[in-house]
Amino acid sequence: MNGSRAADLIARDRQHVWHPYGPMPGRTEPYLVESASGVRLKLADGRELIDGMSSWWAAIHGYRHPALDAALAEQAGRMSHVMFGGLTHEPAIELATTLVELAPDGLEHVFLCDSGSISVEVAIKMALQAQLALGHPGRRKLATWRGGYHGDTFHPMSVCDPVGGMHALWSGVLPAQIFAGPPPVEFDEAYAAELVAMVEQHADEIAAVIVEPVVQGAGGMRFHHPEYLRVLRDVTAAHGVFLIFDEIATGFGRTGEFFAAGHAGVSPDILCVGKALTGGYLTLAATLCTPHLAAAISAGQGGGLAHGPTFMGNPLACAVALTSLRLLSSGAWRDQVRLIEIGLRTGLEPLRGAAGIADVRVKGAIGVVQLDHDVDIAKATAAAVEVGVWLRPFRDLIYAMPPYVTDPDDVARITAGIAAAAAAT
Ligand SMILES: *Cc1c(COP(=O)(O)O)cnc(C)c1O
Repeated sequence: MNGSRAADLIARDRQHVWHPYGPMPGRTEPYLVESASGVRLKLADGRELIDGMSSWWAAIHGYRHPALDAALAEQAGRMSHVMFGGLTHEPAIELATTLVELAPDGLEHVFLCDSGSISVEVAIKMALQAQLALGHPGRRKLATWRGGYHGDTFHPMSVCDPVGGMHALWSGVLPAQIFAGPPPVEFDEAYAAELVAMVEQHADEIAAVIVEPVVQGAGGMRFHHPEYLRVLRDVTAAHGVFLIFDEIATGFGRTGEFFAAGHAGVSPDILCVGKALTGGYLTLAATLCTPHLAAAISAGQGGGLAHGPTFMGNPLACAVALTSLRLLSSGAWRDQVRLIEIGLRTGLEPLRGAAGIADVRVKGAIGVVQLDHDVDIAKATAAAVEVGVWLRPFRDLIYAMPPYVTDPDDVARITAGIAAAAAAT
């Protein structure tokens, strides 16, 4: 792209376009992307960057994947969208059936929604409607642990970490929920007892416990012992409280298991998926639930689940998602994720103990460097760009979640980008 065209676009971006979590205009100039292919983003000035972020953890097969491109084009040739009220179509049916086959046991019904936050809204609605229908009108709250992230719409915000999620900004607006402390990395009996006590003490006022299994993502990129999921499964089941797993970040292989629930061998009552569902092509998410929940909701006073977005079950998104799941069904992701894990460990471990570095941690295709101070995002990003890598640090965290198709040399470059970003801030 010629330089003056690029400069004009950036100027209008700064004048009119909001970017995530930013002021208007943004604090720093965004980088203008012209195209993307494989694991590389091509900037308008011709530079190429290896994408260490998978476009916020979604583009697991990389960009312009031939099978995903073909699925999208073929579906556009048939129909891009039809309403889902009273109508149905093959892409939605095939996708829902495939999700049920891949999901943890017992999850048999699929509600297709527009984004991750909405899938969490729907999960909460399912839990609240089912409790009401089952004769527990007092169970209107949710319980979770500190350090979580579940989306940016209001009810999901209420179960985000109160500090990280800036609850102070929303006092009087967000419903007050029940929080346990953040889950420790290792198994700790005292913390397990805290989880049990939280559910026991609040059983008659909570509809569900909602957590991100094994990896807490945007709330702080923290990992915890999977045994806590079994503890939650047992105590919620014993008290008729539903268990919601938000696998929007962890689903589809990212942590080394297809779903993070697999690390603990437990099934939730409700499962949220999103992000990598369409391989990063289009916005789509889903909320799965058990027949027990669906039967309760369907027999309840609403006569059905009270949700139905305009673009529900969008055929383009469903067709691409189905193709992405078929790519994953070859099983190649398992070795790819393992190789990335080895590459991230090799590249990041040497940073442990360096000045300014508080922690280094890797799980599956997730590599995290935590600093002992907040990152200067502009400086850190620019340092990684110098090395040819795209990263988007936040708070005190510089991390990578590369596409599964990233080869070892590119993973090494990503870890060099992280090191450069850490040194620059
Ligand atoms: C990203 C994310 C969400 C929100 O998804 P959006 O598509 O951004 O609305 C919810 N939960 C988790 C765990 C996430 O990582």
